[in-house]
Amino acid sequence: MKDLRWTFMLCLDLTVLFFKVPKISSCDMLSEVEANISIVSRNEWQAREPKLIEKFSGKIPFVIIHHSYKPSVSYTENGCKRAMQNIQEFHQLSNGWNDIGYSFAVCGDGQIYMGRGFNVIGAHSPRYNDKSIGICLIGDWRIELPPQQMLDVTQSLIQYSMKNGYLTSTYKILGHRQVRATECPGQRLFDEINTWSHFSKIPNGPIDTQIP
Ligand SMILES: [Zn+2]
Repeated sequence: MKDLRWTFMLCLDLTVLFFKVPKISSCDMLSEVEANISIVSRNEWQAREPKLIEKFSGKIPFVIIHHSYKPSVSYTENGCKRAMQNIQEFHQLSNGWNDIGYSFAVCGDGQIYMGRGFNVIGAHSPRYNDKSIGICLIGDWRIELPPQQMLDVTQSLIQYSMKNGYLTSTYKILGHRQVRATECPGQRLFDEINTWSHFSKIPNGPIDTQIP
């Protein structure tokens, strides 16, 4: 029953998000391709309304990986929903951004949480906000590696994004520190994503202005 509910929520969300995208216009089609991912909708985690939604078009060439540092990881659904609310409040109320900065987040309960979603300009990585999917793995991953389930679900989200035409087939994965002076996504998680296929070593830090 739970799986059906996720599928239904996803269909609703994506139908709204991609109303004008003819390629993914039917919920039947979504159910088929959605297969092994489910996304906790903004309604479910009780997100505030975005102040503004600015879109960009075309296939997306980059995935940028972040950690939240704070809040720390939670392993329960309620804790993860609270973490999402805290991040959004910080981004929207303290930083004055339109919405939570990330496209998606992954939490210790093994679920994907909807942020701004696909093809919405983010607020997470300078120069890349209109050409990337920003995924935050909630927690502090400087020393510890996220649980395998979080890594797996992140990879599933990336695979899903490619198979469904949001990402280019030659997309590149970067860590936030490659485009901005920050230790994000944490040394241990950064070491991990270095081993993932599609990881790009370029750019090699915030002063490297190459966009591979
Ligand atoms: Zn970051």
